[in-house]
Amino acid sequence: MQKLSIIVPCFNEEKALPLFYEELIKYIPDMAYEIIIVDDGSKDKTVETGLKLKARDPNIKIISFSRNFGKEAGILAGLKESDGDLVVLIDADLQDPPRLLPEMIEILKDDEYDSVATYRVTRAGEPKIRSFFARLFYKIINKMIDVEIVDGARDYRMMKRPMVDAILTLDEYHRFSKGIFAWVGFNTKYIEYENEKRVAGETKWSFWGLFKYAIDGIVGFSTVPLRLATLIGALVSVFGFVYMIYIAIKAIFFGDPVAGYPSLIVIITLLGGIELLVLGIVGEYLARTYVEVKRRPKYIIRKRY
Ligand code: UDP
Ligand code: MG
Repeated sequence: MQKLSIIVPCFNEEKALPLFYEELIKYIPDMAYEIIIVDDGSKDKTVETGLKLKARDPNIKIISFSRNFGKEAGILAGLKESDGDLVVLIDADLQDPPRLLPEMIEILKDDEYDSVATYRVTRAGEPKIRSFFARLFYKIINKMIDVEIVDGARDYRMMKRPMVDAILTLDEYHRFSKGIFAWVGFNTKYIEYENEKRVAGETKWSFWGLFKYAIDGIVGFSTVPLRLATLIGALVSVFGFVYMIYIAIKAIFFGDPVAGYPSLIVIITLLGGIELLVLGIVGEYLARTYVEVKRRPKYIIRKRY
């Protein structure tokens, strides 16, 4: 008989959590299970709400962080604490519909698959501009990394134990789960569903937050931007060299009336921009190296219930 671990990262989900639980238990099949609520430093009554549920259902565990460490840290903590043969990551806002759980378990009975992942076929209910940038992000990142990340893929997925253990061996600080899932490999089956609106509360993602997340994803899984920097440098150097010869010949044969102020300014600002851009790219990698070598914990647990 197998055990199912359900990991629910929660940040300020006091409103959504009870609704989520009611929906969830409808779809947990007749098997041993644990629900791990990872409270990511919530400022509202998420823990109290969780404890009320726990009074009803002893299979609930709550891990409470000392502050907000982000969803990725929550996922990591949940995976570490879990001991099921099957582990599923699911959001507390019902955007990851629990009704898919039985189907996922059914698929994993097949020896062929190690994981079932989900992706949204629509992004209805999401701001247009956000969808646009999300699509763009998947296009860019898939060009840059060796493994493939499915457009619209959610973190909502169920995995068998060996895959979970593999994920836990990836010990980086800047975690980008979608990349990690793809990187560890294993046979994954994708199932699709229509986008669902958050049941209560509000999204924690600002546009800026998503932008940083996107940069994390690219820098964390690809060194292509560094090579791009080299390439830009090489191209600019070649251009500069050719231009130098042109200027020299012009000066020798036609004299050198002092002019060309506009072109000078254009070149200086353009080169200044390119230099800063390339420096910035290098800086992104350096900054991450810096954070990684500090080897700080990815989260701190304040209390377990
Ligand atoms: N979450 C978290 N820590 C955070 C932000 C979010 O644990 O710092 C949880 C949140 O409670 C929810 C899930 O991650 O269960 C997804 O968050 P959200 O719904 O805000 O993201 P979206 O669905 O809009 O991408
Ligand atoms: Mg959500």
